[in-house]
Amino acid sequence: MKPIIALVGRPNVGKSTLFNRMTRSRDAIVADFAGLTRDRHYGNGRQGRHEYIVIDTGGFEPDAGSGIFREMARQTRQAVAEADVVVFVVDVRAGVSAQDHDIANYLRRLGKPCVLAGNKAEGMQGGVQLAEFYELGLGEVFPVSAAHGQGVRGLVEQALEFV
Ligand code: GDP
Ligand code: MG
Repeated sequence: MKPIIALVGRPNVGKSTLFNRMTRSRDAIVADFAGLTRDRHYGNGRQGRHEYIVIDTGGFEPDAGSGIFREMARQTRQAVAEADVVVFVVDVRAGVSAQDHDIANYLRRLGKPCVLAGNKAEGMQGGVQLAEFYELGLGEVFPVSAAHGQGVRGLVEQALEFV
């Protein structure tokens, strides 16, 4: 059985871009507007000899009307339930948001192995922007740039340590 990695996080943090990196595909729809990928989406990935399945989710979307929100939250919960490990994606340029806290609380309650990915970290010096994400209580933040492919190998390695 291949391990399953679920990507979760609020809209627009770069989950689908990361999915594309992790699956080397263009399967996930990358959008400049929030909440386009409303369903979850499966892809195959490989790192060295290690194969895995990655699930992209539409994320939590409290602004899009309760119907869509509920459906997306349900999809995300299902993806997390199916996963062996969760990669929780945050946007280091935007900083910590209330939604990030909600998701972090949810993941901590579940107690599922979780890696925190600080995306959009290209060209950032030092850890000032990363430091505030420690308040989510999920431990170390791994800086990545899904768009530029930086840090993604290390992130996947870290996630696969948990399976
Ligand atoms: P999702 O809603 O979480 O799936 O986010 P998307 O993958 O659709 O990306 C949302 C936006 O962030 C798009 O405009 C992406 O081009 C942009 N984005 C994704 N990854 C990065 C990154 O590493 N750096 C920067 N600067 N932008 C990124
Ligand atoms: Mg998406």
